Amino acid sequence: ETFLKENPTSMERAKSIEAQTGGYAYYIYDQNLYDSYYRLQKHNKLGLHIKADTLEELAKKINVPYDKLKAATKTLKADGPYYGAKVQSAIHMTKGGVVADENTQVLNDKGEKVKGLYAAGEVTSTSAAYSAAVVFGRIAGEKAASEIK
Ligand SMILES: Cc1cc2nc3c(=O)[nH]c(=O)nc-3n(C[C@H](O)[C@H](O)[C@H](O)COP(=O)(O)OP(=O)(O)OC[C@H]3O[C@@H](n4cnc5c(N)ncnc54)[C@H](O)[C@@H]3O)c2cc1C
Repeated sequence: ETFLKENPTSMERAKSIEAQTGGYAYYIYDQNLYDSYYRLQKHNKLGLHIKADTLEELAKKINVPYDKLKAATKTLKADGPYYGAKVQSAIHMTKGGVVADENTQVLNDKGEKVKGLYAAGEVTSTSAAYSAAVVFGRIAGEKAASEIK
């Protein structure tokens, strides 16, 4: 029995988890994923995830029926250890903002350049990435500074 389709969008995943009893689910993974994913290692060191030598032991620790956990995780590596984390849906960030062109110049709702106004990073509609904030932030700073001169 599955409550979530394969490759869901973020929103579908969030809503499916929210619809579960108690509004939570368990994120289960194996040693292969642990070894390749820094964030999982960090969260384990902080004691946020549960580790067990076998799937049966993990089922007991997270209080779910072993046969169902086994069926749901048949794609995982056969031998342990295994890991589990209780997860809930949360708002990660809001989207949207002013529109700016490739030179970081802000555009009005007619697509016209707003004189002397530059924007980059989280205030723009192309938000949500460190690299974009840094690259376009530098361009915006240079453009604004040259205009002041
Ligand atoms: C939970 C989460 C996870 C993310 N994960 C990733 C990721 O893995 N990879 C990735 O590329 N991006 C990620 N992002 C997006 C990334 O963090 C942002 O796109 C980026 O930090 C935007 O940089 P910024 O400088 O535009 O804004 P911010 O980093 O928000 O900086 C704005 C700064 O302005 C300050 N400030 C606000 N108002 C004032 C004021 N009136 N006076 C003085 N200072 C003020 C704030 O305190 C803040 O320090 C994540 C964002 C969130 C929320």
